[in-house]
This record gives sequence, C-alpha cells and structure tokens, in this order.
Amino acid sequence: MSNLQLATPLRGSPMGARAEARFPLWTPILLAIGYFAAGLLSYWFSSASGAFAESVFIHEGFGLAMMLLVGRTAWGSVFAGHLALSLYQGMAAGLALLVACGNLLVLILLTALLQRLKFRWQMDTPRDYLLLVLGVTLVSQPVARLLALGMMQSLMHADITRETVVEVFKFMWLDESVCQILVASSILSGVDVWRRHQPGSFWLTLLLASGLLALVLAQLLLVPDYQWLHPLHVLSIVYLLVMLVAALFELFGAALANIIVLGSTQWATHKGLGPFYQLVDSGADLTNMNTFLVGIILSSCLVGALLRERSDREAMLAQLAHHDSLTGLFNRRHFFELAERELLKARREPLQLTLFWMDLDHFKQINDKHGHAAGDRALAFFAGVLQRQCRRSDLVARMGGEEFAVLTSGSVDAAALAEKVRNALRIELPQHPQVVAFTVSMGVAAFQTGDERVEDLIHRADIALYQAKANGRDRVVLDGEGI
Ligand code: GH3
Ligand code: MG
Ligand code: MG
Repeated sequence: MSNLQLATPLRGSPMGARAEARFPLWTPILLAIGYFAAGLLSYWFSSASGAFAESVFIHEGFGLAMMLLVGRTAWGSVFAGHLALSLYQGMAAGLALLVACGNLLVLILLTALLQRLKFRWQMDTPRDYLLLVLGVTLVSQPVARLLALGMMQSLMHADITRETVVEVFKFMWLDESVCQILVASSILSGVDVWRRHQPGSFWLTLLLASGLLALVLAQLLLVPDYQWLHPLHVLSIVYLLVMLVAALFELFGAALANIIVLGSTQWATHKGLGPFYQLVDSGADLTNMNTFLVGIILSSCLVGALLRERSDREAMLAQLAHHDSLTGLFNRRHFFELAERELLKARREPLQLTLFWMDLDHFKQINDKHGHAAGDRALAFFAGVLQRQCRRSDLVARMGGEEFAVLTSGSVDAAALAEKVRNALRIELPQHPQVVAFTVSMGVAAFQTGDERVEDLIHRADIALYQAKANGRDRVVLDGEGI
C-alpha cells in the first residue's frame, strides 16, 4: 500500500484530482485479486456463521475503499472481481455480467455522490464517517436492492410479492451495511495512518492492544461453560475495551477492534461456543444482539472519528501557537520559551550557548520596489537557508518582521556558522531568480555566567548587530565577550 500513489495525495484534501493520478499496471490487477479474495472471505463468513448477516459484504467494503482511494483505476478491478465471484458461485455468464455491471454502477453512484459532498477519504472528521454511513445505508444499499428486484422480475420473471420486497429490504440499514462500512472505513483510515508515518511504537502498541482484545474475547466467548455469563455482560466488557482502543488509536483502532469483535462473535456462534451460542436458537434474541452490535459498532467508530478530528485540531493549534505562518520557523513567543529553558540548563551545567541575531538589510526597499509579495518570498527563502544550514537541535526562529534568531547549544564556531549562512545565501540566491537578492547583517553573542534571562544575551547580540549595520551591513559582528 505504501507504494500506492493515491488519488488525493494531499492529506486533508477532499476527494478529487483523480484524473491526474497515475498507477502502475499491476495496481488494477492486484485490486481485482484483492476484491475476489475479499468476496471469498465474505461468502465463507456468511455461510459459516449465518448468525450476523446473510451477506457480510467484505468485498463491497473493499471495493468502495478502493474506488474512493484510487478512483477510476479501481473500476475495472471491481467489475472483474465481482464477475469472477459470481461465476465462481456458478451463476450463468450473462447474469453474472449484469450483476457485475449493476454492482459497479452502484459504487460509482455512491463515490460520485460522496465526491460532490466533499467527502475526504482520510475519514479524519465525524462528518466523513457519517457521510459514509449514510451513503451506504440510504443510497447504495437501497439502489442495489432495487436493481436486484428489477433483475429478478425482468430476467427471471419472478413474482415480486409484498413479502419479497420486505424480505429484500429487511434490515438493510443495519446488519447488512455495517460490514461494508466497517471494512471501508478501516481500510481508508488505515491508509491515512500509514501515510502519516507513525513510529514503530504506535504499530507495536496497536498490535499489543489488538492481541489483548483478541485474548480477552477468546476467554469470554470461547469458554465452553457459558451459563454463568450473559451475552450482554460480555458485550459490555468487550465494548469498554473497544472504546479504550478507540481512545488510543482513534477511528482506525475502533474499526480494527470492531472487526476483531465481529469476527470472533460470529465465529464463536458458528462453532457453538460460549455465551452467544445460546442466542442462535432463538431468532428474536439473535436479531436483537445483531442490532445491538451494529449500534455499538457505528457509535464506537464515530467516537474514533471524533477523537481523530480532535487530535488533528490540537496538532494544528500547537503548530499555530508555536510557529510563524509565513516561514514555518518558531515564532518569537515559542523561541523565548525554549531559549529560557536552554538558559536554565546552561546555568546549571557548563554549556556553551550562542545567539545569532539577524536582520535583513534594506528590507523596506525590497517591499517598496518589488512589492510586499516579493518581500514575503525573500523572508521564506531566508528561513529555508537558515534551516538548511543549522542543526536540528538549534532553535531557529523568526522574531518578527525581517528579524531572525538562532540559538545554538554546545560547542560551535560562531564565526564559521555565521559565514556559512551568509555564503549559502550568496550561492543560493542566483539559483532562484524569483527571489529578489538581499543581504543579511548579524550580531553574535555568547552566554555568560552572569546572564539571568534570555534578554541579557539578546541585548549583547543586538548591540553587535547594530555595529554590523553601522559598519555598512552585509557582515557579522561578534560580541567581544565570551566568543
Ligand atoms: P535595515 O537595513 O536598517 O534593517 O533597513 P530595513 O529597511 O531592513 O529596516 P526597517 O526596519 O526600516 O524595515 C523593515 C521592513 O520590513 C519594514 C516592513 O514593511 C517590512 N516587513 C516586516 N514584516 C514583513 C512581512 O511579513 N512581510 C514583508 N513583505 N515585509 C515585512
Ligand atoms: Mg529590522
Ligand atoms: Mg532590516
């Protein structure tokens, strides 16, 4: 999946731009095989369990996710996969072709509708999750069933009675849609999580949490002596755990945990094990349990989507609070917070701290001659130069206007670093003709044991900068003390 060039490369962007996406030839072939395999799993599940849903629709969820992710590239795969599945089941070729066409049309309709509603496949908001749920339950499932009824009547001349209609539409909003929604949302949120390059610890804890959930389920569901445990007690414990996974891993975790729960409850019921088995013989209770499961699956995933949106907002707020929006460097306030900490450290243990205070030369003239936008480009360009020349551990900030600061800790050759920045600027500027040429003046000061606050250090660096300006600009002046 990591090599897949997605239809919407930008995270957070709505669906679209699918026409530009280019996929290697093997992508549709792999997707068709995946669809077929998901279909086999689906058929196995529905015939094996017979407990949760008549049709499990794993392949429909897979197909939907693929159409949302890779757009038209998946059309042929969904068609071929569905055709192969129908033929595999022994359906006549002509009918199988029609069914595959109908299935593809329904998915195209649903994805087009979602696209119009600015659905984002990353599923990073509850709105996207709800759109998927409503799209499947209120649009694609009813349309698919109407198509099926139409085919039954026109091709097989079936007698469509009121009972047939009720049977076809029964519970479609619940158990028969939920697998498709669950599979699609777990694939989509999973791809998004993968693309955010989570650290190894994330995957490890997710694996541990899923394993733990599966273990608890095995204990609760597969105990042969189930009499002492009511199925609802089991569900309430299990769903506390699912919510815990949702709280830790958001929508992806919630969807994954629900798949584990759904899979194991159905499997246990099929095997005649554990507390759920007692429900199999009583149709009404089984229906109630399924309805309960659907409600809880949808709501725990919604909680996951809400948490996902919240953590995104928090990250965005932290970014806004700590960074300058034009250059992406730390802003003045965050620089002071971090620099104050460095100063405390430097006062405790002998640690060299060096402050570079920089001001672009004659910047007002750039704005006046070339316009404010050119000024902005120059500021962003200089920020890039600074970032490339400094170490990751250095504090690099835009202090306001055309003033920048770099605070380095540990031993550093101050004059060499300052010259390195100026040289890089000199070399890189001609390579970027869209950026107006400019120079920079710098004042450099080192931490001294008497420094109480960051301002003390800034004060000396500022005096040095003033001298650099007074001496003709485009130069570096080192504060005499400590360097
Ligand atoms: P000196 O060499 O003495 O530093 O002269 P200067 O023109 O660079 O200094 P001055 O303080 O007179 O002007 C700074 C200018 O920077 C004025 C202001 O319009 C411009 N400026 C401040 N912030 C921004 C910004 O975000 N974008 C742009 N384009 N210009 C900015
Ligand atoms: Mg200035
Ligand atoms: Mg200036």
